[in-house]
Amino acid sequence: MTDPILPTAAQSKTPQKTPAQSSNVTDTHDDIVIQMRALIDAIKTHNYAYYVLDNPTLEDSEYDQLRCSLLELEEAYPDLVQPDSPINQVGDMPLSAFTQVTHDIPMLSLGNVFEYDDLRDFMRRVNDRLSVSQQNPEYEMELKLDGLAVSLKYEYGELVQAVTRGDGQTGEDITQNAKTIRNLPLWLAAAADIELLEVRGEVLMPKAGFDRLNRLAEESEGKTFANPRNAAAGSLRQLDPSVAASRPLAFYGYSVNQGLPESIDTQSAALAWLTDIGFTVSAVEVVQNPRAAQAYYESVIEARSDLPFEIDGMVIKVNNLALQQQLGFLSREPRWATAYKFPAETVMTRLNDIEWQVGRTGQITPVGKLEPVKVGGVTVSNVTLHNFGEIQRLDVRAGDMVSVHRAGDVIPKVTRVWHDQRPEDSEPVTLPSTCPVCDSPVVLPEDEALARCSGGLFCPAQQTEALIHFVSRRAMDIDGLGASWLISFFEHGLVKTVADIYQLHNHQDELINFEKLGEKSVQNIIDAIEASKQTTLARFIYALGIRGVGEGTAQNFAQQFGDLDSLMAASIETLIKTPDVGEITAELTYKFFRAPHNIEVINALREAGVHWDKVEQVASEGLPLDGQTWVITGALDSMARDEAKAKLQALGAKVSGSISAKTTALLAGDKAGSKLTKAEKLGVKVVGEDEFLVMVGE
Ligand code: NAD
Repeated sequence: MTDPILPTAAQSKTPQKTPAQSSNVTDTHDDIVIQMRALIDAIKTHNYAYYVLDNPTLEDSEYDQLRCSLLELEEAYPDLVQPDSPINQVGDMPLSAFTQVTHDIPMLSLGNVFEYDDLRDFMRRVNDRLSVSQQNPEYEMELKLDGLAVSLKYEYGELVQAVTRGDGQTGEDITQNAKTIRNLPLWLAAAADIELLEVRGEVLMPKAGFDRLNRLAEESEGKTFANPRNAAAGSLRQLDPSVAASRPLAFYGYSVNQGLPESIDTQSAALAWLTDIGFTVSAVEVVQNPRAAQAYYESVIEARSDLPFEIDGMVIKVNNLALQQQLGFLSREPRWATAYKFPAETVMTRLNDIEWQVGRTGQITPVGKLEPVKVGGVTVSNVTLHNFGEIQRLDVRAGDMVSVHRAGDVIPKVTRVWHDQRPEDSEPVTLPSTCPVCDSPVVLPEDEALARCSGGLFCPAQQTEALIHFVSRRAMDIDGLGASWLISFFEHGLVKTVADIYQLHNHQDELINFEKLGEKSVQNIIDAIEASKQTTLARFIYALGIRGVGEGTAQNFAQQFGDLDSLMAASIETLIKTPDVGEITAELTYKFFRAPHNIEVINALREAGVHWDKVEQVASEGLPLDGQTWVITGALDSMARDEAKAKLQALGAKVSGSISAKTTALLAGDKAGSKLTKAEKLGVKVVGEDEFLVMVGE
């Protein structure tokens, strides 16, 4: 697919030479024709892959740039426009086994605008063709649904034909498949007296259905689709209607092209009528001026990621149908409507490099360094590749062209690697054998996806992450000692281990002058450190950052052992008796308390005055729930989950975080999810909040 004469999208934005720059006009013309031909060939190849095979060979944003480049060349050199230019072409005529049907009225595409200024230009062009009294007409805005256009014909209320857009003049008869779309009406009682009704709209696949379809395809090693639009097109063009029937498709009507009752004179009223007679239509907004259009456009961008289906912009249409007719069509698109596109959420860029980063517990994660690119409205230059397994799954290498997706606030991710564009000299990625920060050996434990640095707290990367965890809100909660200061102190040697935090008051003068921190800020930090000395055993255990010991486990340890020394002295067998603690966590905890460095730090912390109140251990013997293990899920109305947990513990129960066959009961609040399902499956007793309140005597 890599074509030596084809300009890359980035290079081809503007014509490369102008006549003034050239020594010889004929030469320039030859160059321009070569460029045009390269673009035409590329666009045709991509059109075929997209419209005929439903399997695009590059992202839409890149394809749009190719079209844009060709259009710019054609506008700059109208005499050189090639006779087979695809610029005014709609779609492509698929070579398929379906019967071909000529549309009564051509099904065209839409022009595009990308910015507010372009939108105003579009409205200005509309005004230019209207009389003085018709100026500044009302507009109607709809979601630009990202599926494929289909025309439906109803005779006396009965669906008789469904046809794809095809090349705009001729489409494919997909009636049998369309009949399997669940929200597409086969019979319209309200249109029983209309001889011929033609409704056009978009067939699309909702995001959830698309994800499910691709997941199943991946599991069965079948063909996955690049996006919901291609999945919808591919499903609708299945020769076997039972396959189409199994795909989650939906139809949204957006115009009535024949048979609209004469009393209806606007696009918004036509869509309201479609809803009344049984169609689904998308959101509709009528606006009086460009500012209102812009405001609605921006509000939809905000809501975009929450919609159940993909949209790639808004369509803005002159609302009055008589004015639409007066304005008419250009060869490929109407003059009275345009698409106001959204910033692309998936774009292609080069993955320049893969760097390995080290986390708090030593996990080594690969980070993709991208050629910076704007996606979903923000510039992205780093993307997480999660773990070595993900690199292997994607089969990605430094130098590859990749698709990066970012929707709403979602963290950007690599969704596709364009293997056919891989540079010849690229090398497969290997897991580093030593830590990129401390050079200790890297280990990849069996059955684990994450590789780890074996350097422990010797590794500076793990030291800083451990420091940040230690001061965090749910650990020692040292408000005011933020991560960036902490890292700075670490880098300047003021703090090496968490114990050094409690010696910072000995360096007050140094701190005051430290990057102009100032007296007041330093005092705040010192006060916060002082206040943190009074803590709880559970918080302290959690703050130590033992691998596998989250807040819940830390609490269970505190409850089980009652004091730190017993926990530190416990054998693996004893540790395992703690609710929620399995073999791995027990072993990691045991090893943590055997490392001399960790003991030193813990002693230093205690000597500095870190302390906690005695843990009220509940002696469960003889209590009503002694020997029982409970799990809590969902939201409780009458109390927080921690409170419910304390009440259960007071009655002698152990409270665990996960359901197993050994669980005695599940306390299920509102919106209980997978735990409830699992409990039901395992036959574990489920207790509702009311029953629980009676049980605890409230
Ligand atoms: P288009 O999809 O940009 O716009 C026209 C279409 O919008 C109509 O045919 C209709 O189906 C649809 N539409 C959705 N909601 C509508 C509404 N409310 N009212 C009216 N119409 C509505 O144009 P196109 O010619 O179908 O295709 C161009 C698109 O296809 C571009 O996004 C382009 O990037 C993509 N494409 C990509 C490749 C590739 O290789 N990646 C190749 C070809 C085309």
